Amino acid sequence: VLSLAIVREPAIIFEMKNLLYSKDLTREEIEALMERAKGYLPVAGRGASGGARTKVRDAEGKILATLFYEPSTRTRFSFESAMKRLGGDVISNSHMDYTSSAKKGETLYDTGRVISQMADVIAMRHPEKGSVAELALGAVVPVVNAGDGPGDHPTQGLLDLFTIQQELGRLDNFTIAMVGDLKNGRVPHAECELLRKLHEGKDDAGGVRFVFVAPAALAMPREILAALEAAGHEIVETEDLDAVIGEVDVIADTRIQKERFESEEDYLKYKGVYVITPDVMAQAKEDAILLHPLPRVDEIEVAVDEDPRAKYFQQVENGVAMRMAILAELLGL
Ligand code: ASP
Repeated sequence: VLSLAIVREPAIIFEMKNLLYSKDLTREEIEALMERAKGYLPVAGRGASGGARTKVRDAEGKILATLFYEPSTRTRFSFESAMKRLGGDVISNSHMDYTSSAKKGETLYDTGRVISQMADVIAMRHPEKGSVAELALGAVVPVVNAGDGPGDHPTQGLLDLFTIQQELGRLDNFTIAMVGDLKNGRVPHAECELLRKLHEGKDDAGGVRFVFVAPAALAMPREILAALEAAGHEIVETEDLDAVIGEVDVIADTRIQKERFESEEDYLKYKGVYVITPDVMAQAKEDAILLHPLPRVDEIEVAVDEDPRAKYFQQVENGVAMRMAILAELLGL
């Protein structure tokens, strides 16, 4: 067990009752979470040196409830792994949509209120945008958004920023290309909002440039673009990945979000529109990094996994450390 002094240094505690939306975080909060996640990395991850994962006792006696109304592999396990590595316990339902009282007509407000009598913190995923806030209204313990439909996914966004910081060594003065279904992808939405909040108020917007690569029908929502522009970020929109891949420092790839399309036929129009292969990576900068929140369908060939610039498995490990930091902050530890 690592000494708490190491894990909790520097202890910047802030008032974060819930973590609902990326845009609600301040620069100080984002930076504090990064610092805290860094402290938890030796607990959560094996790292480059292949060290042993372990656990601390920060959350001993606390219970996390994970309520998932939509499929998930990584996010739910990541929260649960994070809580266990913090020394806490977990109660979990990954099929809330058809095995919970929602089936009987219970409102999200009531579910929030009820689960609060049994758990100390709640992580929730739901297919509808805004649903997490509804549950949080009823809850009297902290609630964290683990993905609400096509809306937001703040914990994934935070772990992506954390990975950029770890791998690139900085969170300013870089160009990021977001590639894929930017309309429906909650992960690119979260990344945009967090990068904007991180550099809010700076003259040069932190020198963070955005290149959005998507078919026109799957472009980034206008309100997110407008907010980035108003904050002073330079933005490029294109459908042509080959034209821009050589200029960027971060390639943040995502899948076409099949479940958000009206029909299979509609989805098939875009499936496979961008596929990252070793040949595509050959055009990228030598020190660029390739991120993907996973799951991948066909947008990154398996042969790319061996490219040292591919960081999507490292992201998973970083995600546990980041969620440890988030849970610890929400629990006031
Ligand atoms: N796992 C991520 C999410 O839940 C990315 C994805 O599903 O494409 O949004």
